Amino acid sequence: MSPLTKVQVLCVILECVSKYDANERDEIRRAYINLGPYQPKLDEYKKTKFGRNSRKFKHSWFAIKEFSPWLEYSPSKDVAFCLPCFLFDKPTRNFGSHVFTKDGFRNWKKVNDGNNFSFLNHMGKQPNSFHRASEKAMTDLMNQSQHIQKASIDVVKVLAFQGLAFRGRDESSDSINHGNFLEILDLVVSYNEYVAEVIEKAPKNASYKSPKIQKEILHVFSNKVKKAIREEIGDAKFCLIVDEARDESMKEQMAIVIRFIDKDGFVRERFFGVVHVLDTTTLTLKDEIYSILSHHSLDIQDIRGQGYDGASNMRGEWNGLKALVSNDCPYAYFIHCFAHRLQLALVAASKEVILVQSFFNRLSSIVNVVCASRKRTEQLKKAYADQIAYFVEIGELETERGLNQISTLQRAGDTRWGSHLRSISSLVNIFSPICEILLKRSSRKEILLPNEKQHTHVIML
Ligand SMILES: [Zn+2]
Repeated sequence: MSPLTKVQVLCVILECVSKYDANERDEIRRAYINLGPYQPKLDEYKKTKFGRNSRKFKHSWFAIKEFSPWLEYSPSKDVAFCLPCFLFDKPTRNFGSHVFTKDGFRNWKKVNDGNNFSFLNHMGKQPNSFHRASEKAMTDLMNQSQHIQKASIDVVKVLAFQGLAFRGRDESSDSINHGNFLEILDLVVSYNEYVAEVIEKAPKNASYKSPKIQKEILHVFSNKVKKAIREEIGDAKFCLIVDEARDESMKEQMAIVIRFIDKDGFVRERFFGVVHVLDTTTLTLKDEIYSILSHHSLDIQDIRGQGYDGASNMRGEWNGLKALVSNDCPYAYFIHCFAHRLQLALVAASKEVILVQSFFNRLSSIVNVVCASRKRTEQLKKAYADQIAYFVEIGELETERGLNQISTLQRAGDTRWGSHLRSISSLVNIFSPICEILLKRSSRKEILLPNEKQHTHVIML
């Protein structure tokens, strides 16, 4: 950092106060503190005449314990500055001198002048001297910023682990909900009064909470995870499993999973990341995959298998990709993704079996009736809660945190076979409450007793 820019920054801090708000000034200060005091080692420091003798700045002064944390030297102006005083000086200050802040100190003769030791004088003997106060302000600012940074990192970690969205729909200052990241960050820092006060005053777009910093922190996490996976792969051969999807903003994405055998002989499948692709042409997909592999020093020649969704509307592209990869590595055998094939087979087969087909048709009608309105969903939840309470009372259900959560009936979809299992499981779980709703619906007034409920349950199963 050249001393000239330092002087410019001083202007920013001292004179352009009206132009920059407190938060921006702190950002500039933090950047300077992180760089540390400017202590250049020159072959020759400039000489200044003092009477018959000439004196100059001595590099050895930087090494003195008391001065090394703050002493700075500007080669272009041949003066010394004090970093903390320089950063925390106020234009309105009318006590003490500005010699180590604005003007710069050059009276080298007085540095080693017995009682009149200028550097010690600058520091002051009293704990409330301007220099000591500036040093404290500097330490506080850095502690505060470390606390905020740690809080930001912790919040990103929690949100990423829980798979929650970071951003809010409206993050403006008058919004009542600024989204998960900002709201949780505010909560976390509110436990530290000193930092909370700063955060309170800071604009919502302050850099330590900006979307950019959120992404950067996430990026660091993602790299750490990938690095761990890379280490796990070692020099093993591996298979690629790739699928495409579109995100909410309709951007094309490609998800990459790497399958390999780890050093203990276990088959591992690791999700290696989602990449945005500009288009879904064969060449783009290949280039992206190759660039990710080479970025993590995974050799194309070590690919032993490739699996894509051969039935998708991108069939042509995947076939092309298969051919390109096989050209580069003849051992990269193609396997039409088993999960996708199983899905296709199950959907087709189940349509041919009348019993199965009519079962799922009926299930879908039940979902339609039971989940038709908000009111009915609420009724279902209430009936389910009553059932859980009853079973817990008679000792048929374990109570444990996270168990027995109130859920609703799930709809099955043809594109995800697993959804059929979820749908049937939810039907089994809340069978009696569903019967209750259906009975009410068919305007039959009789109320089932709990043991009768159980009875119906058993018959159906
Ligand atoms: Zn100072």
